[in-house]
Amino acid sequence: MIPGPFTFHRPSSLTDAVTLLAALGDDARPLAGGHSLIPMMKLRMAAPEHLIDLAGIAELKGVREDGDAIVIGAGVTQAEMVRSELLATKLPVIRETSLLIADPQVRYMGTLGGNVANGDPGNDMPALMMALDAAYVLEGVAGERRIAARDFYNGAYDTALGPGEILASVRIPIPPAGQGAAYEKLKRKIGDYATAAAAVVLTLKGDAVAGCAIALTNVADRPLFAEDASAAAIGATLDTATVKRVAELAKAITDPAADGRGPADYRREMAGVMVARALLKAASRAKGA
Ligand SMILES: Cc1cc2nc3c(=O)[nH]c(=O)nc-3n(C[C@H](O)[C@H](O)[C@H](O)COP(=O)(O)OP(=O)(O)OC[C@H]3O[C@@H](n4cnc5c(N)ncnc54)[C@H](O)[C@@H]3O)c2cc1C
Repeated sequence: MIPGPFTFHRPSSLTDAVTLLAALGDDARPLAGGHSLIPMMKLRMAAPEHLIDLAGIAELKGVREDGDAIVIGAGVTQAEMVRSELLATKLPVIRETSLLIADPQVRYMGTLGGNVANGDPGNDMPALMMALDAAYVLEGVAGERRIAARDFYNGAYDTALGPGEILASVRIPIPPAGQGAAYEKLKRKIGDYATAAAAVVLTLKGDAVAGCAIALTNVADRPLFAEDASAAAIGATLDTATVKRVAELAKAITDPAADGRGPADYRREMAGVMVARALLKAASRAKGA
């Protein structure tokens, strides 16, 4: 319950924040909504000597359209994503997923940036961002670089974020007409991390799948982009046999932990069930789009 002592910093610009982070090195951690970091500090599983609070940085706020992308500031909270008119119109699956994360109080504080930068395989936004083919905009003292969400996750709490880098925003391609998306999450109760969850983004041409991207949450030490499963759906109609084959290919790349959510075999099976449900829901949405 009691964290270790730390020095608190509140920079008012992104430049000041990255300069501070680079200077303080491994002893410092960015603080966003604090709803993953502070629980870890209270258990003394994290004991940073410096917290760099990002809440005073205006550049990290806001949801906007920029060319062919929707850009969401890393500091945008889950509650703000639920309320965003722009997201409701262009990317409603973000609202759907946000509402499956945690509970109202956590969503008032927890940010998109914290959720995707955290590196906990239980977080829901990373798989969705992989399915949507989002890019993460990282800011460091040397400037800005972009990396695909699909290339960002190396393992549990191990990401491509370099020393001194802060995630500034997430860029999501504006969905083409006729795209459908769904996020299906199995959990034991409100506020629980997924036993298994799947994000599916697809487009249809007639009854056949023209494009498909599938990603999985909490069934390995990192979020997974299911490349073979996604490819297997393309060109097919989503009949029972195809859905089963795609789900099997997705299950094949999982390596779930056995924990209070059940044994590994059960969680692998549930990953397949979530993929099948998300595929059918995304397809029916693509038809209605
Ligand atoms: C009861 C409870 C239930 C929850 N249930 C779920 C759930 O079902 N699904 C889910 O996805 N999440 C869940 N969460 C986690 C919640 O969504 C967190 O808020 C989120 O994972 C982290 O976001 P944050 O803004 O709070 O980040 P913080 O806790 O402030 O930071 C998390 C980590 O990311 C780093 N970080 C934060 N922002 C940046 C940035 N811009 N650049 C670089 N590094 C950064 C921090 O240094 C830290 O290491 C739950 C949390 C609680 C307390």
